[in-house]
Amino acid sequence: MELVFGPVPSRRLGRSLGVNNIPPPKKCSYSCIYCQIGRTWELTIERRSFHDPWSVAEAVSLKISEIGGQVDYVTFVPDGEPTLDENLGEEARRVKAVVEKPLAILTNSSLIFRDDVRSDLMSFDLVSLKMDAASKDVWRRINRPHPSLSLDEILEGARKFAGEFSGELITETMLIENVNDDPTEIEATADLVAELEPRKAYLAIPTRPPAESWAKPASEETIVKAYESFKERLGSGRVELLIGYEGSGFDLGENPVENILAIASVHPIMIDYAHQALSRFREDPEKIINELVQSGLLKLVKYRGMSFLVRSWRG
Ligand code: SF4
Repeated sequence: MELVFGPVPSRRLGRSLGVNNIPPPKKCSYSCIYCQIGRTWELTIERRSFHDPWSVAEAVSLKISEIGGQVDYVTFVPDGEPTLDENLGEEARRVKAVVEKPLAILTNSSLIFRDDVRSDLMSFDLVSLKMDAASKDVWRRINRPHPSLSLDEILEGARKFAGEFSGELITETMLIENVNDDPTEIEATADLVAELEPRKAYLAIPTRPPAESWAKPASEETIVKAYESFKERLGSGRVELLIGYEGSGFDLGENPVENILAIASVHPIMIDYAHQALSRFREDPEKIINELVQSGLLKLVKYRGMSFLVRSWRG
């Protein structure tokens, strides 16, 4: 992959220009069971220099001029863990000096216990922290970390960072069936995420082939429960689902079906709300909902006496 790629559309970041600051083959401190790049062959926690920071800034600046500046974020999102790059802070500062675009990074959080990593992350405008598990055994099963990493240290580092960072902090939690989706683990992870006070907590499922074929997305029922559990702690509007749809979100178009599918991909919809939203198209909401449920595009889930519609990914 090239050093700078895209821009790619992202619901979280709009048009995002990617920076692949860790050259292949993939180097990571985790070997997540759901990783879309496959297993990690170089499992490492050693920070190294991969690029001359100036060449990174130059490549970003060149690409931005080439595409006429049409970018919402420049995002460090390599094939591996971006904080393994010891020049990360310097690269971020140099990129900011040459392009007037907000800078984002998606990190697995594993090295955030280090002072130098937290300091490098401070140069970004938006930081996304991976928070898949709250207990050590689940963390080991889902993220398969480098053996010398400690979850306690990582969580301590994440709390410290969240307390000091003045940019936008978001979190991402991947939900895998029978791995990190039991109610106790979800509640504990929600507590943990709430402590970090992110602007938004994203709940995701794998949408591309995972490193391990047995890593399956959590069920729709679990997603609804997890969503509610996170929402109870963070408040409405601060939890979103990332379950495959990277489209226009709440930009309600004229197509009622597209419309309802887009919303159900972002959060579970109470059935009464779906009726209301659909009735503005003067069609029979009941009929549309039934068709979507029968065709497997939506799933009807009952939770605490209420009925929700959520985007189905099992078809
Ligand atoms: S942290 Fe990211 S790159 Fe590393 S194994 Fe997990 S999903 Fe893959």
